[in-house]
Amino acid sequence: MKSKLILSVIFITSLMNTHAQTPGELADIWEREHVSNLFPSNVRHKDLKKYLDGLRKLDLKVVEVGRSYANREIYQVEFGTGPIKVFLWSQMHGDEPTATSALIDMFTVLQTNRDKDWVKKIEAAVTIRAVPMLNPDGTEFYQRRSLQGIDINRDAQNLQTPEATLLKKLRDEWSPHIGFNLHNQNALTTAGRTNKQAAISFLVVYGDAAKTTSEGHERNKRLTSSMVSAIQPSIPGHIGRYDDEWTPTAFGDNFSAWGTPVILIETGALHGRDEMFLVKMNFLSIMTAIRSLADGSEKTYNPSTYETLPSNSSGLLYYYIFRNGSLIDRSQPESVKTGDIAVNIDRRRAEFVAPAYVRQIGTLSSHYGLSEFDVKDFYVVPRNSKSLRTGGFAEFLFYKKSRTVDWRAVDLERQFPPDAIFSLGRWVKGAELFSSKAE
Ligand SMILES: [Zn+2]
Repeated sequence: MKSKLILSVIFITSLMNTHAQTPGELADIWEREHVSNLFPSNVRHKDLKKYLDGLRKLDLKVVEVGRSYANREIYQVEFGTGPIKVFLWSQMHGDEPTATSALIDMFTVLQTNRDKDWVKKIEAAVTIRAVPMLNPDGTEFYQRRSLQGIDINRDAQNLQTPEATLLKKLRDEWSPHIGFNLHNQNALTTAGRTNKQAAISFLVVYGDAAKTTSEGHERNKRLTSSMVSAIQPSIPGHIGRYDDEWTPTAFGDNFSAWGTPVILIETGALHGRDEMFLVKMNFLSIMTAIRSLADGSEKTYNPSTYETLPSNSSGLLYYYIFRNGSLIDRSQPESVKTGDIAVNIDRRRAEFVAPAYVRQIGTLSSHYGLSEFDVKDFYVVPRNSKSLRTGGFAEFLFYKKSRTVDWRAVDLERQFPPDAIFSLGRWVKGAELFSSKAE
């Protein structure tokens, strides 16, 4: 009985050892072992340095490879000794942080599992180099561009920024076989003309405007199919294909032209899931691609899994839609209009409250809201102004239509306490009055 138990323990352990790279198991590993402990949007350069200290303590090779315009250190991390050279860089746009944390977790997991067969295989077959946070100045201000006001991803030809110059140098000196260009896209990007957010979008980047294919390009399609297969069960319908228009000044396109075919990963958002979930999706994707390269299984993936992804789409989705409200203009309250109001919130670090703005007023029957509220039984009044207008703050008071209210009252909110209040992107009063229809 006892020996049977020991045998089965050994059997299960050996199974885990050889198969610990399936998507489900990779997800479990991430849950147990990830070291990124801040929402990516809250990670500053000083936090990155702490993460990198952690990697150094694990004996990973972390080297300063250059400085930003404001003299912040830019680092490269390395793992493995194999012949296949994989180069990744993240956060060349300062407000696109998700993959930076995923890279830290990836290196940590690889290094701490070096005794496992699946990692030994990776170590022997692949050399990974990654630059997490190529644009530390932009990150500090949580802005897309560099401190010089230049979009580093449009500087591959002119090389006016030290960051772009460094990125090109790192490629030219090493000639990697594959590049991963890691970004974030708008949270309201959809996978196809649907109401489904594109939580992750991929693009296998061509090296010219004519879309000439190559062995490396075809391999990257299969690698991307492996990544899609890995995350599809977690986020069905929420994976998109990024627009493949040739951009002559962008890095992905130029890397591909220079001989390092690039895969672009764009992280979006997923309603009801936080940033860490998206870190996990990045981790799963990238680890799966590297695992497939190392064990040769990439050859078994069908490129059509990637090719048939729905194209990224935009303009269909809002954060909130309030439907069928009776809209009151307090300067002329006699003319009540019926309509829908669409509200979006701005991209901010997680630690800040993001302002919410009215983005559309009218009939929005062909649009979707991540949260929708049927307010047909209510008057909707702007909280801090006379009139509801596109571009204004989304601060609303709601009154039941059975009530009689003097809309011209100077201190409206106090004289006529509203039944519900929507402020700073949430209900501060009366949420229970509305049936929310969330996707
Ligand atoms: Zn970007």
